[in-house]
Amino acid sequence: MNNTIELVSTDITTLEVDCIVNAANNSLLGGGGVDGAIHSAAGPGLLEECRKLDGCATGEARITKGHSLPAQYVIHTVGPVWRGGATGEDDLLASCYQKSFKLVREYNLQSIAFPAISTGIYGFPKQRAAHIAIRETQRELAENKGLARVLFVCFNNETRIAYNKALLEKR
Ligand code: ADP
Repeated sequence: MNNTIELVSTDITTLEVDCIVNAANNSLLGGGGVDGAIHSAAGPGLLEECRKLDGCATGEARITKGHSLPAQYVIHTVGPVWRGGATGEDDLLASCYQKSFKLVREYNLQSIAFPAISTGIYGFPKQRAAHIAIRETQRELAENKGLARVLFVCFNNETRIAYNKALLEKR
């Protein structure tokens, strides 16, 4: 069943969920794309909190408060840069979802919104990334009954098509 997976086409910073996920870089000190949007909407307190984390390895995740965002928390995860697919990119991307869900469990969060991690500036193919995101999420939903809603933000039409296809193929 996919009844707790939702596709939404909106700016992730506007979502009233327990946590939103940031597709961050290793420094955790802000950047372009969704990272820049989250930092500007959250305000300077987020950067201040991120500075204390001392970075994050690719495939790992860290959690901060949401500061001025409507979301209570931000999970910062660092997706892989696409280098052709033979350097562990799939596993690293899967790890971003797994480590984010681990924090969801630790903090007892009920709702989470993900951007399409790595598929912007980092160049990961959108369809391939959508399959990984849906696979890891369905695995988690089967295990974690406290997780009520998982939202995927489709910031462009290609991303929405990719998630729709991944959901259809998984049924
Ligand atoms: P990465 O460096 O991991 O590739 P990007 O931020 O470049 O991260 O892109 C990841 C995804 O986030 C892309 O699909 C991009 O279109 C999308 N995106 C960019 N801004 C926002 C936003 N404000 N809300 C949700 N998604 C966004």
